[in-house]
Amino acid sequence: MQTMPSESVESIEHAPARLRISEIFHSLQGEARDVGRPTVFVRLTGCPLRCVWCDTAYAFHGGEWREISDIVQEVAKYKTRHVCVTGGEPLAQKRCLDLLERLCDAGFEVSLETSGALDVGGVDARVTRVVDLKAPGSGEAARNLWSNLGVLGARDQIKFVLADRADYDWARGVIDEHALAQRCEILMSPVYGKLAPRELAGWILADRLGVRMQVQLHKILWGEEPGR
Ligand code: SF4
Repeated sequence: MQTMPSESVESIEHAPARLRISEIFHSLQGEARDVGRPTVFVRLTGCPLRCVWCDTAYAFHGGEWREISDIVQEVAKYKTRHVCVTGGEPLAQKRCLDLLERLCDAGFEVSLETSGALDVGGVDARVTRVVDLKAPGSGEAARNLWSNLGVLGARDQIKFVLADRADYDWARGVIDEHALAQRCEILMSPVYGKLAPRELAGWILADRLGVRMQVQLHKILWGEEPGR
């Protein structure tokens, strides 16, 4: 067997931890429990899913490799307590777990927005995990990693983004089947421009559903501009 020269092994071990980043920006949190709070967003490049209504397809490719220490330094410049690590699918880059830990160590309140298709079990316990469950209208329902539900707790959130009544009925069935209301907070939001928010609100109220409905604040304020 051919062995690797010792300096190569050393250089790999000491290689700086890097991530491919699409953008880092300061805005108001547009969704989830922290909606409305000033937040620094770190958007990682890449996603293995292709939801039909995806609003961040610009993050599938491109971006820039950056060292984790450099990312944490840039986040700190905004002097903002809340940090949201998002994508794309941030967990598609393994070093994302290191970034989350480093941000928590630096004293930030950190949330992670993830597709629900990848294992969230290794995420630092100080991080709030906002985990999507993909409804059939996304075209990616087969990617839901159901074992994730078993590791979620009171500080986490499950998010359903719904395109129509069929998605809503599916979500209601999943909530019942997995007793999700006993596990963590449940969020429902309509696909922007596809399902009227008022219609979703009516269904939730009629069913006395114990979920938090959301509309995406950043889109009301700024439309679909990247970096907002
Ligand atoms: S998981 Fe998120 S980033 Fe990936 S395709 Fe779906 S909506 Fe877009």
